[in-house]
Amino acid sequence: MSVAAIVVAAGRGLRAGAAVPKQYHAIAGDQVIRLSLSLFAAHPRIDLVQSVINGDDLDLFQAATAGLSLLPPVTGGATRQASVRAGVEALAAHAPDVVLVHDAARPFASASLVTRAIDAIADAQAAVPGLSLADTVKRVDPEGRVVETLNRDALRTVQTPQAFRLTALRDAHARALAAGRDDFSDDAALMEWAGASVAIFPGEPGNVKLTTPDDFLRAERARMAELGDVRIGAGYDVHAFGDGDHVMLGGLRIAHERGLSGHSDADVVLHAAVDAILGALADGDIGEHFPPSDPRWRGAASELFLRDAISRVKARRGMLAHLDVTIVCEAPRIGPHRDVMRQRIAEIAGIDPSRIAIKATTSERLGFMGRREGMVAMATATVRLPWSAP
Ligand code: MG
Repeated sequence: MSVAAIVVAAGRGLRAGAAVPKQYHAIAGDQVIRLSLSLFAAHPRIDLVQSVINGDDLDLFQAATAGLSLLPPVTGGATRQASVRAGVEALAAHAPDVVLVHDAARPFASASLVTRAIDAIADAQAAVPGLSLADTVKRVDPEGRVVETLNRDALRTVQTPQAFRLTALRDAHARALAAGRDDFSDDAALMEWAGASVAIFPGEPGNVKLTTPDDFLRAERARMAELGDVRIGAGYDVHAFGDGDHVMLGGLRIAHERGLSGHSDADVVLHAAVDAILGALADGDIGEHFPPSDPRWRGAASELFLRDAISRVKARRGMLAHLDVTIVCEAPRIGPHRDVMRQRIAEIAGIDPSRIAIKATTSERLGFMGRREGMVAMATATVRLPWSAP
């Protein structure tokens, strides 16, 4: 059974009250849309991920989803229903058996919820996650007077991802279009209208839809609470000066009367930073992951090593919270490059420059650094992980 996911992100999210649509807002440093898409992109039972976006958001989308394995996005329509239809039509060429439709504004759905959705559709045309109600529910008249108390045992609130046979969903969308109906608030409602039987499987209380600024505040607090495993890692690196007219430091090319020798580009700053992050993860060291004996890393740009370390943090659903680097050398002078270097490292690591510190000192002409034979960098990384991470 081949399975595709459609992630609907075409809304303008005006209710969240900010300059960019809500799906592009960050929660504890992670953009909502990236969280939602990476759930599906990383899920072993999902073969294809189709995003539906607003045409005005293409640049935002590309920046937010760099490095994720996704189909090219398609442009949505004026309603949610039209946007899902655009995603379904784009997927039709790939002919997956099953499609899961998910709202980008629900970034906290878990991988096991996705698995449950796929299991539930195995013997159904449509299956949606639902929760029973804790509160008593009243039906009211237009004046706000209670008409009756409903039997909450018979009620469910439903979420996404909703699972459908692709051909059945495509057919229902085509029929709704032909009937002039464009007001279905979810795909399950459209399938009910089309006469399909819709199964319910257990949803997740944490799988909330982010709508108001308050939702975002609560979500950020929850995310930071989740990242309760705060780890500090240390990194240290030395490279000797050799021939050359520049050094690479923190991903910057800095003109100097000598170069640094090494197998890669000998960027001591990034090497120390990578070891600090790997140390926080207790995941080996840079020499283990990128052995100098491997010809692939000859002359390699060290930003590649930092990107790899960051992807290891992400794979464990964590974040790099802070990186503090001390450079020890008599020359070149670091001060003039400090802020650009912070910007550069922040860009490679995908975090805010305010979370990167660069400090420099000399060794008072003592030792190999004092004799200008080589330079040293030391780094401390603060990494936050969910306590339950492997
Ligand atoms: Mg090194």
